[in-house]
Amino acid sequence: MASDYYEVLGVARDADPEEIKKAFRRLARASHPDANPDDPTAESRFREVAEAYEVLSDPQRRQRYDRGDRVDIGDLFSNLGTFDDLLRSVFGDSGLFGGTRRQAGQRGRDVLVPVEIDLSDAAFGTNSSVEFRAAVRCDTCSGNGAAPGTDPETCANCSGAGSVRVARRTMFGSMMSIAPCDRCSGTGEIIPDPCHNCRGRGVVDSERSANVEIPPGVSDGTRLRITGQGEAGARGTAAGDLYVEIRVRPDSRFERDGINLHHPLRVGLAQAALGFEAVVPLLEGGEMELDIPAGTQPGSVFRLAGEGVPRLGRRGRGDLLVHVDLVVPTRLDSEQESSLRAYAELTGEAVAKGRRRRKVR
Ligand SMILES: [Zn+2]
Ligand SMILES: [Zn+2]
Repeated sequence: MASDYYEVLGVARDADPEEIKKAFRRLARASHPDANPDDPTAESRFREVAEAYEVLSDPQRRQRYDRGDRVDIGDLFSNLGTFDDLLRSVFGDSGLFGGTRRQAGQRGRDVLVPVEIDLSDAAFGTNSSVEFRAAVRCDTCSGNGAAPGTDPETCANCSGAGSVRVARRTMFGSMMSIAPCDRCSGTGEIIPDPCHNCRGRGVVDSERSANVEIPPGVSDGTRLRITGQGEAGARGTAAGDLYVEIRVRPDSRFERDGINLHHPLRVGLAQAALGFEAVVPLLEGGEMELDIPAGTQPGSVFRLAGEGVPRLGRRGRGDLLVHVDLVVPTRLDSEQESSLRAYAELTGEAVAKGRRRRKVR
């Protein structure tokens, strides 16, 4: 094999043994022929990955390889025991894909439910009830899938394990691998007389609801996980999880940026020039007075420390940033206009003689 072993594993030349092992674990799973039954190149990719690992995981072999010497591992794949040992040393007794395949495959599915809340509820937390449709345990058979009065039987093919060890002949000899038992579809049980209510699944679909405690500081798109509240698992296996995805309704008063809030404050010409006491709304309700000093420029920002959004799962709050939005009058009555003209005369500002008025007032 002419390939560079480091490149094959996708690790740096100074990668430590743990990195090499991790890379192999990932690549071996991805390229194993069992995981790629329709890909004829999987076997050679897997072989390359295994060879690279066999060399780089052994300090002496790696040293020789780094020096450019030939490293002979010719018998790696011809000896079933050797190769099985190698896999076991990396993946443990459970094999390449884990021994919990049976449970993993049968665990109830996760459920994702959106919930819409106000910005203030997102900031300060709330309780919400969500409704969704998901599997629950079948009452008729108490979840075991067998018709009342009958019992599931242990699968004789796999002795109830749900999986079987099989020796596969491959281009590099025999390999042991774990495959789900096809007699019982990996459940470890045979149901001679299926429950009529759930057709042997052990679960039925149902309308459900859950109460969700939404913590302070969540934002749009935050997903909360409620363990074990998803779909019930088939035949008594573990339930999936419920994920509640937060959607925050827009609030016309505030724009949120992480833990900070932005509020546009409309300020008149005279107010900006002379100063005034502004009233700013607060997210938790109520208002706060804000002193806008004389001579405030458009676009000025006033920071109200600690009036923003609480940090999710931590202490402290962000700030409320008040942006001065200078409002230039578009309609003036004659008295206002003459005052402004008098003002312009005093400051020496050149202004238009007449004012184009809109036809409709
Ligand atoms: Zn049932
Ligand atoms: Zn079986």
